[in-house]
Amino acid sequence: FDERYAAHTPKSGELFARAGRVIPGGAGSSARTVKFGWKPYPPFIASGTGSRITDADGNEYVDYLLGLGPMILGHRHPVVTAAVTKAISDFGTCPGLPYELEIEAAAKVVEAVPGIEMVRFSNSGSEVVGSAVRLARAYTGRRLIIRFEGHYHGWQDTVYWSNHVDPAEAGPADAPRPVAAGPGVPLELTDTLIVLTWNDPDSFRRVMAERGHDVAAVITEAAVFNTGCILPEPGYLELLREETSKAGALLIFDEVITGFRFCRGGAQEWFGVTPDLTTLAKGLGGGFPVAAIGGSKDVMGMIAEGRYSHSGTYNANVVACAAVSATMDLLAEPGLYERQRKVGDRLAEGLRKLAADAGVPVRVDGLGTVFQVWFSDHPIKNWRDAERYANVDRFTRWYQEMFLRGVLFHPSQYENLFVSLVHTDADVDRTLEAAAEVFPVLAAE
Ligand code: PMP
Repeated sequence: FDERYAAHTPKSGELFARAGRVIPGGAGSSARTVKFGWKPYPPFIASGTGSRITDADGNEYVDYLLGLGPMILGHRHPVVTAAVTKAISDFGTCPGLPYELEIEAAAKVVEAVPGIEMVRFSNSGSEVVGSAVRLARAYTGRRLIIRFEGHYHGWQDTVYWSNHVDPAEAGPADAPRPVAAGPGVPLELTDTLIVLTWNDPDSFRRVMAERGHDVAAVITEAAVFNTGCILPEPGYLELLREETSKAGALLIFDEVITGFRFCRGGAQEWFGVTPDLTTLAKGLGGGFPVAAIGGSKDVMGMIAEGRYSHSGTYNANVVACAAVSATMDLLAEPGLYERQRKVGDRLAEGLRKLAADAGVPVRVDGLGTVFQVWFSDHPIKNWRDAERYANVDRFTRWYQEMFLRGVLFHPSQYENLFVSLVHTDADVDRTLEAAAEVFPVLAAE
């Protein structure tokens, strides 16, 4: 593969060598580096339009990476781009004081997301998750946070645990040990955390019965998109809601990925379970950098009354608010999500069929506009199952062969494929044509 890749992307190879001299790993985020699977080096991107992206060598790809999620409206959506351009030419980027467009953007998010009565804008998912966790601690006067293995909530110390860690260190499934996700995280924080296996009602019930009165918050991805794609078992989110309410703990849905993804109101609308706090980011600004923390008036009232300080120089800047406002309007188009879920479902169904025809066991799990192809015939309900049953080497080969045929997605089995709201049936056709060649190649290996 390395030779074919080098012949396909020589210019990227040159840029990677140049980048490595001034940027560690040659890329701006570790998720774009060799270590995260972009071997032998990541493709360098020259431009993107809608559902397509073009690399530095002029190769075009159907793009299912979508910037790892934010490009929900495809690349360079003309309406969002125009709204942002107008807003910054009208009054700049960072007034450092409130302004009217900010109210407009906030009101649209409040209208869209069931669990959000009030909202504040920040810049990244990691930032708003950090705020949500501390706000939950401030609100409840408690310290303990429950989180789940294989979920990712950003890189802040409080939550940078038990994601992509060594299974040998993780302890038993019914009582996992918190494992820091990397060096530099103070191990003293172990005492502030309980880590559990997701989609396992028994361990959750047991821990809440024993420790519920000490728990400030339970934080969860409402559907897991940082261990491939795993949906909640029926009743599981309801159980989290019921037990947290009973214990006086807050329920935080980290909807950084799921927000606006399956429907405008996010996973909480889709599954019909309303959290106390919600974090949003990817998708919120149609590709522009913005994130949000929102929740009930009661909890967000801590901020309103000045009992909790949520600050940030770039919070609710003009680029962010113009992007949110325009994106929220576009996402309100009647029938938009129904149409796109059909496009995504057709792709998922097509992949299942082609894999079956070639005799390659796969599961395609997800919800229309975001899913993952698991190289496994065993159901995957949580990170432990993924570690045990997913054929990661086969996934790598699938990524490689699809890439060389003009289809782009993340090379890690633990990421996923995003279908934007502007992908078309023609994109699906092109992808399925590639897959029709690739599955037999995998079967023969
Ligand atoms: N939460 C979830 C569920 C995420 O998927 C991510 C990013 N992949 C984050 C938080 C962190 O967001 P950011 O990268 O914008 O800091």
